Amino acid sequence: MTFDLVIKNGTIVTAEASYRADIGISGERIAAIGDGLAGAREIDASGKLVTPGAIDVHVHMQMSLGGGIISSDDFFSGTRAAAFGGTTTIIDFVEPAPEQSMLAGLADRRAEADPRVAIDYGLHMTIGPHEIAKLEQVPAVFAAGCASFKLYMAYGFRLTDDQLLKALTAVRDAGGLPVIHAENWDVICVLIEQNLAAGRTSPHWHPRSRPELLEGEAAGRAIDIAEFVGVPLHIFHVGCQATVNRITAARARGLPITGETCPQYLLLDDSVYDRPGVEGALPVCAPPIRPTGEPQNMWQALARDHLQIVTTDHCPFVKADKMRGIEANDFSRIPGGVPSIECRFPALYSFGVRNGIFSANRWVEMCCTRPAQMFGLTGKGRIAVGFDADLVLFDPAKTVTLSTETLHEKVDWTPYEGITVTGWPVATLSRGEVIAENGEFFGAPGRGRFIEREL
Ligand SMILES: [Zn+2]
Repeated sequence: MTFDLVIKNGTIVTAEASYRADIGISGERIAAIGDGLAGAREIDASGKLVTPGAIDVHVHMQMSLGGGIISSDDFFSGTRAAAFGGTTTIIDFVEPAPEQSMLAGLADRRAEADPRVAIDYGLHMTIGPHEIAKLEQVPAVFAAGCASFKLYMAYGFRLTDDQLLKALTAVRDAGGLPVIHAENWDVICVLIEQNLAAGRTSPHWHPRSRPELLEGEAAGRAIDIAEFVGVPLHIFHVGCQATVNRITAARARGLPITGETCPQYLLLDDSVYDRPGVEGALPVCAPPIRPTGEPQNMWQALARDHLQIVTTDHCPFVKADKMRGIEANDFSRIPGGVPSIECRFPALYSFGVRNGIFSANRWVEMCCTRPAQMFGLTGKGRIAVGFDADLVLFDPAKTVTLSTETLHEKVDWTPYEGITVTGWPVATLSRGEVIAENGEFFGAPGRGRFIEREL
């Protein structure tokens, strides 16, 4: 039998094992794993690792903050950058307008994404305060393939505890998975007000207005409400041990609680906010990047499965938008978010696997396999017969110095400027199609598909 494409002589790395074999691809799927396979096209992967395509379940493409500020990667530029970094599936968000039904919001978001995505994608449904009156729509949203629901404890989307209780109950009844941004918004608002009133207006005061202890408190409160309701809960963007402690305590009680961290919490510390001028404003994100010591805690949490997956919270804003908070002398008006979508998978290899913190199998588990399982991405995240041929040929020796020159994200800065990583994707396949190879892009806008997820 001749396959459409064969990846030959690579070292396959899965969540469970590493071994030498060829992969035969027919159409969009993996059709065989074995020795001496023949294909109409063959790619020699000698000396390379072959992994499942990486999955990033937390990204914000072309997200509007109002006032004309929109995250700068659109669904094409962002998914193209993702592909260069070895990511073949993302999950973004629906934020329905106040007067709009959740399904109408989903249709609008799909209309933005469908013509542009270069890789497959799913969507989380946001339940904000306006959605509390629409909770009877949750089962229909779940049936439409949005199996996970985003709840915020901060910003204008913030849900109070009574609203959290109602939202978690509705998601439980529909069989969905709630995901949460956990911070103590009341405390944050007071600290921001006090700092600004005292003339403490620079980005240095951003992390000091969003304390770790209260992030842990908020996560613990959300976990407790979820336990009371009887629903699993996934904690977004964990950057501090205070929150890890709440997650591990819940897991030790046998609760289905999971957590994630992101590259910005692993590779940077809060000294970034002391950089002069707009440079200190660029890395503003929430929860903030934490003091030295916390990144090491997050690496250990990943090694010990205290945190289960790595995502990015990719949400780039250009320098001119970040500048607004500097010009206003108000750190709280800096649009929050950083770009990380392209470097996540290689950076986790370079600083996690190469530094001996965890194995290559654990790397694949956290970036590919576990996210697919947790978020209902059927057919993704594994190298196995019948699964989508979403694959990465990864050169473990290739060095790349991260900068706006080397990265493809549509934003005029990167928080990782000058950091050199060892290990980089040399080819990325999405459903059997080589969409990025040796720095060239072969995908097309709109070739990605919306995935109706099931849990
Ligand atoms: Zn986010």
